[in-house]
Amino acid sequence: MSTLWLVATPIGNLGDLSPRAVEVLAAVELVCCEDTRRTGKLLQHAGIRANRLAVCNEHTEFNLTSQVLDVLSSGANVAVVSDAGSPGISDPGERLVAAAIEAGHTVSAVPGPTAATMAVTISGLPSGRHVMEGFLPRKGRERTGRIAEIAAETRTVVLYEAPHRIERTLADLLSACGPDRPVSVSRELTKLHEETVRGTLGSIEVGEPRGEYVIVLGGASTESAPVSDDDVRLALHDAIAGGASKRDAAAQVAAATGRRRRDVYQMVVESDASTPG
Ligand code: SAM
Repeated sequence: MSTLWLVATPIGNLGDLSPRAVEVLAAVELVCCEDTRRTGKLLQHAGIRANRLAVCNEHTEFNLTSQVLDVLSSGANVAVVSDAGSPGISDPGERLVAAAIEAGHTVSAVPGPTAATMAVTISGLPSGRHVMEGFLPRKGRERTGRIAEIAAETRTVVLYEAPHRIERTLADLLSACGPDRPVSVSRELTKLHEETVRGTLGSIEVGEPRGEYVIVLGGASTESAPVSDDDVRLALHDAIAGGASKRDAAAQVAAATGRRRRDVYQMVVESDASTPG
């Protein structure tokens, strides 16, 4: 049975190209990559003689799918690589994987470097439960909404960022999360000028923006995680359904959420007024 291989490549240091990555890349019929020149150089460095390369990026991945499925159906194997790191992580690959699975082919990977994993493991922040957010939306409500979600997230959050946007993103995170939130910012991982600065959003200084960045943000503390109005309404509903009077329900929920009792009672009154009948 033929296999679609997702092959991780170095994020800066060529020494991180694994022997198994070389073995698989040398053996496949077709290598799908973001940039044929860049991948051509990597293959050359690994001593792999030119195999067939096809461009796979956000514009071509859709059309490339049928070509890849044809190669797999002919019994040959295909590899997917990105410019750096693991394909499918903020990089093309996801669509090809879904299509290959759908068509009944084997999908496997040669795991290796991923900037997110390296950054979270060296951050000093809790890594057991973390979420990978990749790149933030660039602007508008989508960005504001995502940052608000991230501010309320209690797990460690990993973000990718380009050098020309690092300061703006750290400033936006500071406004949403406050100055005390722990953060670690890594740049140029595995390269000569690798650097990780650790501190809080209020104190961190990244200096002259250079290279590629990963931001690792500590989660919101569970005690101070903001409680939304919907959460308050739900808690009120549960308390009243459990037999509490409106006044007692408001007192209980205010104590549990840290909201003012008067405000919570007002929400009971408003929800009564908006209930039909
Ligand atoms: N697929 C890649 C991976 O597995 O990490 C990520 C590709 S994404 C298009 C590129 C982003 O990854 C960069 O903007 C940066 O945020 C992060 N990145 C990649 N290499 C990095 C490195 N050596 N140091 C720091 N961040 C890096």
